[in-house]
Amino acid sequence: MDISKTVGEASLDVELAHCAAPETTYAQSRSESIRWGHLTATFFILLLFSWLGIVLSRQSDGVATIWFTNGLLFALVVTRPKKTWIPYFIAGFLADTLADVLYGDPLRLAVGVSVANSVEVITSSVLLTRWFGSPLQLTKRVPLLGFLGVAVVGATAVTSALGASWTMLFVNAGPWWMLFRTWYLGDVLGMAIIAPLVFILQRPGFFTMLHSQQLPRTLLLLMVPAAATALVFSHSKDPLIFFIFPALLLVVFRLGFPGTVLAVFVIALISIWFTVTGHGPLMLITGTNLLHKIVVEQIFLAVALFTFFPVAALLEERKALEISLQKSELRYRELANADALTGLANRRAFDERLEVAWYRAMREEQSLALLLIDVDLFKAYNDLNGHVGGDECLRCIAKVIASALQGKAEIAARFGGEEFAVILQNTTIEVAMQVGEDVREAVASLKVPHSGNQLGIQTISVGVAAEVPNRNATVISLLTASDHALYRAKYLGRNRVESAAAVMPKSEMFTADSTV
Ligand code: GH3
Ligand code: MG
Ligand code: MG
Repeated sequence: MDISKTVGEASLDVELAHCAAPETTYAQSRSESIRWGHLTATFFILLLFSWLGIVLSRQSDGVATIWFTNGLLFALVVTRPKKTWIPYFIAGFLADTLADVLYGDPLRLAVGVSVANSVEVITSSVLLTRWFGSPLQLTKRVPLLGFLGVAVVGATAVTSALGASWTMLFVNAGPWWMLFRTWYLGDVLGMAIIAPLVFILQRPGFFTMLHSQQLPRTLLLLMVPAAATALVFSHSKDPLIFFIFPALLLVVFRLGFPGTVLAVFVIALISIWFTVTGHGPLMLITGTNLLHKIVVEQIFLAVALFTFFPVAALLEERKALEISLQKSELRYRELANADALTGLANRRAFDERLEVAWYRAMREEQSLALLLIDVDLFKAYNDLNGHVGGDECLRCIAKVIASALQGKAEIAARFGGEEFAVILQNTTIEVAMQVGEDVREAVASLKVPHSGNQLGIQTISVGVAAEVPNRNATVISLLTASDHALYRAKYLGRNRVESAAAVMPKSEMFTADSTV
């Protein structure tokens, strides 16, 4: 365990009162105000897309192959606070009406059509966020299925019925059901492709796919369904449309939900373009007009997205679950290795690391050093300041130890009670003594008042040992040596660093005036 990860940096001249972990004052705030710049940009984008939809419909025998605007507006509002929705609905209504009027439709027709479109967006947004929460999470399976059922299949049917009926009052556009069908399929596709696309474009996760390291892989993978679609749709002799599905499946598995949405969008653009211009496998349907072929093309796209979006959402959910399990496992592992009071490594983690360090040092024939640190006269500190005050003091000393050892130690741990231990890999006794001295000084310079200590402040004693492990010795010998060194430091008056190198008579060791 890296001590820098377990204990935050501490300033060495920190006052005891300031050693407490800072209170978390971070408050999550979500802007609920309307952003006028965003709203204005939305209006112009909706105007452009409405106009494009109308142009596309007039160029393909009156069929709106795909109607972008409703899906776009829907995805923009369901990812925003409800308080801000109404101006967006008004912007959508005005953009839709204006696009129709600019294209030359009578105002009353344009207004009726826009009302029908607004019904789709408003009912879908209100119902889905009520049932599945706001902001709507389209990458989760249940909200996605709700979206496919309510927004893509249901609300579009209502809108298409209203729109077809209203249009019939002004234009002689053939039988009602045909007008309804073409309107409906265009709306279904627009809602099903554009809404998830705009939704994922607003997620920061989408852009990781486009980061410089990921971009070549993303493009390469997207090229596969794009190339398959271009090949299949530029070929009018055999109906090879099924070749697109394995290519799309590859993207589902490799790029997840965002990649799938992008791939379906790309496939839609390419296949619609070829079909509208009279190319591709759908031309093999004989005895029908272009309108019928476009309807089949729309059904093909609808089947593709109804099949692959839920699969991609399911995979995304699994991945999210896997990541959260990994995170919680890591967290539990950290907790199992951390000391609850100080946040340093605990005794269990220390024992494991000492064993590993011992054998590594043996293999590499390097000196392994150990510091045992004991807080001086801590019983008296507790008596004077209470157990809670004692805990605070231990936390503070732990921070200072971690801070003083940053980058130098293999591990700093709470060895037990008011004792700490530090492993220094590839370190000679001389260097280890200096490190011990640095830690001692750092604690002394905290100047934690301790009236029971002759110096008037809280101090520590440090025992240091180092050896190049050999096969005849065990790690216990290093521990015992540093323990003896610590006794020696206590015996010689505390607030000092002693090494195991100096030999102290056993009789003296046990006459030290306190236990360690
Ligand atoms: P010396 O300088 O010889 O080490 O004297 P000392 O008083 O520090 O040694 P002693 O072993 O007599 O006392 C250690 C004290 O540390 C006793 C115990 O109550 C206290 N202690 C151990 N763990 C904790 C803890 O988690 N919190 C608090 N507040 N006190 C603790
Ligand atoms: Mg002590
Ligand atoms: Mg002790």
